Amino acid sequence: MSRAARAIIDTRALQHNLRRIRELAPGRRVMAVIKANAYGHGIVPVARALAAADAFAVACTDEALAVRAAGLPNRIVLLEGVFSADELAVAARENLEVVVHSPEQLAWLAAFHGGTVDVWLKIDTGMNRLGFRVEDTRAAWQRLQELPAVRKPVRLMTHLANADDPDGTRTAEQLARFTAVTRDLPGERSIANSAGTLAWPESHADWVRPGLALYGVSPFAGRTGADEGLVPAMTMLTELHAVKTVRRGESVGYGGSWTAAQDTRIGVAAIGYGDGYPRHAGNGTPVLVNGQRVSLVGRVSMDMITVELGAQPQAKVGDPVELWGAALPVEQIAAAAGTVPYELLCGVTQRVRFEVR
Ligand SMILES: *Cc1c(COP(=O)(O)O)cnc(C)c1O
Repeated sequence: MSRAARAIIDTRALQHNLRRIRELAPGRRVMAVIKANAYGHGIVPVARALAAADAFAVACTDEALAVRAAGLPNRIVLLEGVFSADELAVAARENLEVVVHSPEQLAWLAAFHGGTVDVWLKIDTGMNRLGFRVEDTRAAWQRLQELPAVRKPVRLMTHLANADDPDGTRTAEQLARFTAVTRDLPGERSIANSAGTLAWPESHADWVRPGLALYGVSPFAGRTGADEGLVPAMTMLTELHAVKTVRRGESVGYGGSWTAAQDTRIGVAAIGYGDGYPRHAGNGTPVLVNGQRVSLVGRVSMDMITVELGAQPQAKVGDPVELWGAALPVEQIAAAAGTVPYELLCGVTQRVRFEVR
């Protein structure tokens, strides 16, 4: 028998979340972000489940080709554009829309004569990662107008750095810069990631670009997907592989980082950082055994974690264990591990069995 660690992917939850996003951004188009293997959920099953999205967005041509190989004809946007001049031929052939964020990418397009591509001009309004600076935007836009390989109209986009902070001033500043520099330009616009879609209606523009929210997870600290009307799409499960008693004063696991204050029952669950469970999850991180919350105790190891079975004294080998998902928000596990839910979802490893339902 194989190990019990598995990730259940709920396609109905994905579809619910897409509908919820349409409800939040009525009349706008949805570019479903499925980069990084659909945030660890599996790019092909997720793309199939979300085929009703108006477009997909990915980080590179390999991801786009995986969607095409599955026979899906949807529009696909390469969020970082091409990584080399020769990828433009792939983009033209596979009908991939390319973001153009740099002078190098402009030069590659100028030298490309193998067809035409749709282009999104990326403007850096304050993230200071990818994109043309505001003062360079008009010249870049003008250059694109002159290039025969570029289909017109060119579309316009930017990316928000602080949209998960609903009280801050930076998002409003970014929106103002974007509006000012694009004011008289034709073409569709896209600004909002999940946090923008959920918290900043003024960022919705023509296209919203949610990733995390599609997977049923909240981008806001201290909130969960359920707070946003979303349903988690991934549930990480395993089973108890051993149950034992430890005596008061005995410690558990590598380094003995947790010591029993009284005689207690310990469950050993078959999941560890080799599966993508975060090694930095500390004592007290919640885990569900038979649907009830118990606490992680001791260090996370590669193949196993240990939990104190306080609320589940009768628990036995083979009993179900949920690490995160439908009944235990991944946001809480991320907080307990000092990271973000994005990293946990993306970090589930090949060893975990995926079941798409
Ligand atoms: C990843 C990404 C998104 C989606 O971000 P979420 O926070 O997951 O919604 C949107 N736009 C760009 C440019 C991205 O790189």
